Order: sequence, then C-alpha cells, then structure tokens
Amino acid sequence: MNSRKKIPRTYSCEFFPPKTEQGRANLSVTIDELGRLKPAYFSCTYGAGGSTQDGTTDTVKEITRQGFAAAPHITCIGSTPEKIKALLDSYIALGIKRIVALRGDLPPGQDQAGHFLYADQLVTFIRQQTGDHFHIEVAAYPEKHPQAASIQDDLRHFKKKADAGANAVITQYFFNPDAYFRFVDDCAQLGVTLPIVPGIMPITNYKQLARFSEGCGAEIPRWIAARLEGYGEDLDAIRAFGLEVTLRLCETLLERGAPGLHFYTLNRTEPTRAIWEQLGI
Ligand code: FAD
Repeated sequence: MNSRKKIPRTYSCEFFPPKTEQGRANLSVTIDELGRLKPAYFSCTYGAGGSTQDGTTDTVKEITRQGFAAAPHITCIGSTPEKIKALLDSYIALGIKRIVALRGDLPPGQDQAGHFLYADQLVTFIRQQTGDHFHIEVAAYPEKHPQAASIQDDLRHFKKKADAGANAVITQYFFNPDAYFRFVDDCAQLGVTLPIVPGIMPITNYKQLARFSEGCGAEIPRWIAARLEGYGEDLDAIRAFGLEVTLRLCETLLERGAPGLHFYTLNRTEPTRAIWEQLGI
C-alpha cells in the first residue's frame, strides 16, 4: 500500500432509487453505514427516459438530509431542454453542486431521441444554463461503449464531453486494469487530462453480474467467469472469491495511479465496505 502514488483521490459510492418503502428504509441505513467511510459524495442513478426522476430526487434529498454530498445522475435522451432546465433548477434549489451527466438509453418501445442525441450536448447545455455551478462527471468505457463502431470512434466522441466542460469522469466497471490504463493513456494522447475514476462493481452474485455485463458490454474475464460458475449456488464462496478479485483490482488501480474509485454499491453496504476497509482508504 505504501507504493501508492501521492495524488488527490476521490472515493464515491453509487445508489439507485429504491422502489418500495422497505427499499427506502434499507437505503437510509446503507447511507448511514457507508457515510462513516467518508466518501466524497454519493451519486444516484436516473432511470431510462427519466422514469425514476422523483425517486432520484427523493434519494438525493435523503442523502443530503443525512449530511452527505449528493450527485444526481441526469440523462438527456428523449427529454427536452425545458425539462432538463427545470430539473437543474430544482437541484440548485436543493444545494446540489455535483451532477453526473449522461446520454442514457431510450426505454424499450420508444424511438424518439428528442432534442439531445449525445451526452456532450447535455454537458454544453448544463454549462450554458448554469455556468460553473455544477461539478460535472461524465461516463467513459475503457472496453468501448457497446454501440460505438470502434474504440477509436468512442474515444473521439468521449473527448467532446471533456471539451464541452466536464470536470471528471467515472468509468463503466471492468475487471482488466490494462483496459483502464490503456484508455487513460489514449485520452492523454488526445489531450484529455481529466481525472478518470474507475467504476468498481463488487462481485456477489454471478447470474446478476453476467446479466449486467451482457447489457453494458463489460467483459468478465474467462478465468473469473469459470470460477464463479463453478461455485454454483455457493454464495459464500462467490463472495469470498469476488472480494479477493475486486480487492486486487482496486489495489492495482491505486498503485498505478488511478485518481480514486467509484463503487457501484447496488444499495448494499457490505460488499463495498469490505473492499474499502481492506484497502485502508
Ligand atoms: P455518450 O457519451 O453520448 O455516448 C453514447 C454513444 O454514442 C457512444 O457509443 C459514443 O461513442 C456515441 N457518440 C457520442 N457522441 C457522438 C457523436 N457526436 N456522434 C456519433 N456518436 C456519438 N444510464 C441511465 O439511464 N441512468 C443512469 O443514471 C446512468 N448512470 C451511469 C453512470 C455511469 C458511471 C456509466 C458509465 C453509465 C451510466 N448509465 C446510466 C448508462 C449510460 O446512460 C449508457 O451507457 C448510455 O448508452 C450512454 O451514455 P453516455 O453518457 O456514455 O453517452
């Protein structure tokens, strides 16, 4: 751990808006428990096509009520400038200073992209409407966004978000650190020097992880998939192996200079806390 480079780092956690009373009660406890680790902020996702707008706002309010910095995600595809402006104003009124700006995906059955086609247009709009009020995070895909024709195209498109005024970047999760470091190097070659914080997905459930990874194009290396599959329904074995793999990934990332970690908590305390505590961050 001593070999870690001395650079400013940001550690953060991501939630999704719970749908039930029980889910909301559980998340309040998770916020309290993970809050003790002193993350820089908690972010909250925004459903496809704005389907969780109220849930995102409610979660952001709960995070703020408990005394922590909140960063709502905001997606633009299928939305209008008026709706986005109203949402930004509501976040300013709540004292929110950080936002995660995304294109999002159209919900199944909807084919009208609307005014905003890509996230760089959202970043431009946020800057036009609110100046420097928000610290804007954008997304990146070290293993390529699934819809991009090539990694080179994806990189060129990604640069537009930096040029539009993003402050920092959170990546899709990945298990191969070389994909991340190569991506960071490629960005530097293009002149993008924003902090690129790796997104970390704790491994606790193989079927769920395989489903997510299929959807977002994140590769589960064959040796990891084979082991997880081999554990079958033995959840304790999956969790123990998952912790070992994720911990080693995080150590490698930090030792080689990643500017922090962003944990996809899936609204649960334990997997993230176990990694965080063992890393000693
Ligand atoms: P963009 O940066 O716009 O890129 C999308 C695709 O378009 C890429 O293939 C890119 O190469 C291409 N592209 C970009 N600009 C151009 C251009 N000018 N011309 C042609 N092609 C272009 N989804 C949600 O619905 N809610 C969330 O809360 C959410 N949170 C996320 C958080 C993180 C950290 C990450 C990594 C993803 C999240 N997503 C979320 C998923 C995200 O919305 C999808 O991956 C979506 O498909 C792309 O969003 P983006 O902001 O990366 O889009």
